[in-house]
Amino acid sequence: MLVSCLFTWWDLREILRTKEGCRCILKCMEQRRKIFRAAGILFVVIGLLSGWAIWVGADQLETRVWESSTEENLFGTGDAQTGTEEESGVPEQEGPENPAIFHPEREETLTRSPETIVTPPVKQETVSETIPRSFELRQRPVDFGFEKAERRARDIDTIVLHSSFNNQGGDRYSVDKVIGIWKNYEVAPHFIIDRKGNAYRLVDEENIAYHAGVSEMKDGRKNVNDFSLGVEILNAEDDEYTDAQYGAVRDLVAYLKEAYPIKYVVGHDDIAPGRKTDPWNFDWKRIR
Ligand SMILES: [Zn+2]
Repeated sequence: MLVSCLFTWWDLREILRTKEGCRCILKCMEQRRKIFRAAGILFVVIGLLSGWAIWVGADQLETRVWESSTEENLFGTGDAQTGTEEESGVPEQEGPENPAIFHPEREETLTRSPETIVTPPVKQETVSETIPRSFELRQRPVDFGFEKAERRARDIDTIVLHSSFNNQGGDRYSVDKVIGIWKNYEVAPHFIIDRKGNAYRLVDEENIAYHAGVSEMKDGRKNVNDFSLGVEILNAEDDEYTDAQYGAVRDLVAYLKEAYPIKYVVGHDDIAPGRKTDPWNFDWKRIR
C-alpha cells in the first residue's frame, strides 16, 4: 500500500511535468500492473501454502493437546475414584489392597492386652461399665424450692448428700409425701432416691436448688447451694439405707461426675455442722 502510494506520487509528478512523461509513465504503470498481477498470484499461492501449513500444524497441535488432556483426564478420573471411595466410606475394600496401611492396626489390636483394648476405645464404654443399664434417671420436676439460674457445667463442683423421711404419718418413705413436706418449706434437692433405688430429677442442674441452707465448705466457700447439686436419699434416723439405694447413689454420682467437674461429695453435716446431722447412718465406704 505504502509502495503503491509512493509510485502514485512519483507518477503524478511526471504527469505534471510533460505529456511525454505522462505517456511513458502510463506504459510503465501498465508494465508494473503486470508485475503486480504476477506478484499478486505469487502472494495468493504463498498464502494458500501458508494456510495449508498452518492448518496441518494446528491439526497436529490439536492432536497433542487432545492426547495430553486425555492423560490428564485419566489421572483426574483416578483421583476422583479414590476420592469417591474415601468419601463413600468403603475402606474395607482398600484394606486387602493396602496391607501396609491396614495390617499394622489389626496386628496392634491383636497384640494389645485386654486392659488397653477396654480403656482407650471410649469413655462411653467406661461409663456404661460404671453405670449399670438398670440406672435410670426419672423426671419429676417441681415448681418450688429453687431459683432459676443459668449455671454452666464448670460452675458446679460439689455434690451434697442428704437424707429425709416423712414424719407426718403414713408411709415414711413415700416420695410424694416427702416432696409435699418440702413444698411447705419451699425447699427441694436436685435429685431424690427412693427406697428401691429409683432416682428422680426434681430440679434441673443449671438451677440453684434450696437444699443446703446456711452452709460453708472446708475451703471457706459459703452458700454451697450456688455451686452444688443436692441429692436426698429416703431414710430415717433409726434406719439403714437399702443396697439398691447405695447402688443408685454410686451410679448417680458417677453420672454427675461425667457431666460436671465434681471435686467434692460431702454430707449435709459436713457443710452445716452443729445444725444438720444428715445423711444419717450413711456408710461412705460403700460409694467409694
Ligand atoms: Zn439435709
